[in-house]
Amino acid sequence: MRITKIVGIALLMCVLNASAVYATESSTAETTTAETDAQKSAEPATEATESSEKQEESETTEDKSFVVCIDAGHQQKGDSKTEAIAPDSPHKKARVSSGTEGVGTKKAEYVVNLEAAMILKELLEAENITVVMTRETHDVNISNAERAEISNKANANITVRLHCDSISNSSKTGATILVPSDTNQNTKAIYEDSHAFAELLKCTLADKGVKVNGIFKREDMTGFNWSRVPVVVLEMGFMSNWNEDQMLSNPAYQKKLMEAVVEAVKGYRDSR
Ligand SMILES: [Zn+2]
Repeated sequence: MRITKIVGIALLMCVLNASAVYATESSTAETTTAETDAQKSAEPATEATESSEKQEESETTEDKSFVVCIDAGHQQKGDSKTEAIAPDSPHKKARVSSGTEGVGTKKAEYVVNLEAAMILKELLEAENITVVMTRETHDVNISNAERAEISNKANANITVRLHCDSISNSSKTGATILVPSDTNQNTKAIYEDSHAFAELLKCTLADKGVKVNGIFKREDMTGFNWSRVPVVVLEMGFMSNWNEDQMLSNPAYQKKLMEAVVEAVKGYRDSR
């Protein structure tokens, strides 16, 4: 498992750097903080082998063959019409939920998500990485399943879904990383790579002094369950916390968060 070994070494270095930051934060994680919104989907997954083939190709070609799909969560108006949360599932959820809004800024989450996404796009392209965006405007109607399908069709090496959190406890802060489940039959094929990326991201965020609540598996997210490529949600912080709400709209803080994503992407790419 060469990939695992290399990622493991990178992680070890990162953890050593970040250990001071983590010491006081690791026990605060809670599994219920993530909003129940983020989901997308794409089409019924037919093969899990596509992504590994793509990764092999990228070893022998230029960096531009490495593809990152960025999904800025939500849109101007949610769509309460439903879609299946997974291929062949009888369970349905809203196509796109409306997201949260800042407790102080009163800014809609979908706006912050796209601001960060556009920064990330620019930073990744500067690294010669190909970027596919699920949206670049607010006035769209793209379900979570359809968003996953965009990354499937692009055969993305990794999909990064950007969201912000909200919770009734207004003191809660920090970033949270969500990954697909390793037991769900729809996502077990993408779990290992998704989790490897999530571990790198946790590390690069911590290196920049960003509090990370942890990495949590989710089985209930349409956007995970329809994805055939590795995928994570980065909940960038809590818009229900006055201070973090302000920070999440600060371009410098957005850039810091996205620089951490870029570092994780590069580490992930180089480990392939
Ligand atoms: Zn969200």
